[in-house]
Amino acid sequence: MKWEGNRESDNVEDRRSGGGGMPVFGGRGIGIGTIVIALLGGWALGINPLTILSLLSGGGVPTAQVQQGPAQRPPADDTMGRFVSTVLADTEDVWQALFRQGGGTYQEPRLVLFRGATPTACGTGQAAMGPFYCPADQKVYIDLGFYETLKNRLGAPGDFAQAYVIAHEVGHHVQNQLGISAKVDQMRGRVSQAEYNALSVRLELQADCFAGVWAHHAQNARQILEQGDVEEAMNAAAKIGDDALQRSSGGAVVPESFTHGSSAQRQRWFHNGLQNGSVKGCDTFSSRNL
Ligand SMILES: [Zn+2]
Repeated sequence: MKWEGNRESDNVEDRRSGGGGMPVFGGRGIGIGTIVIALLGGWALGINPLTILSLLSGGGVPTAQVQQGPAQRPPADDTMGRFVSTVLADTEDVWQALFRQGGGTYQEPRLVLFRGATPTACGTGQAAMGPFYCPADQKVYIDLGFYETLKNRLGAPGDFAQAYVIAHEVGHHVQNQLGISAKVDQMRGRVSQAEYNALSVRLELQADCFAGVWAHHAQNARQILEQGDVEEAMNAAAKIGDDALQRSSGGAVVPESFTHGSSAQRQRWFHNGLQNGSVKGCDTFSSRNL
């Protein structure tokens, strides 16, 4: 991906300081087992896994009470931080334009870089959950150690695979802005677990599609794609499909337990967004064939 020299975002909140020297996934005693369990629990690239906990414990949707740390740009020698900041800025440009075309205003999300664990308006965020979006504070949370997991453990290397992860989480923010996540959230407890899982799959596939929509418009405007980039994202989409994760855990593939969609579905919806660049084309909720 061509990104060096492009604009960086003003919305990155860097909470990594103080954790220097800590093993990336070592904070608070989170071992590899926890990561495996969390990933296989379908939380990889998930939307607010913590909201469930907050709802159980407190009732109601949590409101943003987390202190608003100052946004600060990653230091110049922090390539990975600058990369994430640049991708975030690119999503801002694309979604600003798309919302404007639709007569709306896009409110930019914040992105928090953290190590190990961090407070969020949805409860304590843990690196082991993988990157996630918290609708209550409209922030994307990522421990950059996830990229090592993505490359080495899940077999999805490449900078565009990493960009896809950010764009997917931003896709959840877009869903939040459009009121889609709230509708799905309302169904929690009103439908069976299997039915709720099916809704979750549609929500996640739409976020994949929105990631593709971003890539489509970023490519048109800034020619960001290099040879192999699309393949990197498609490979990542496959490697974090529910069936792939279940299979790699040595367990049986149980479609009713899927919360994010199969590898083929995740690839198809990302590719749909990439090909067409159409938000309307990402209507996974009325699509018969996922
Ligand atoms: Zn997700």
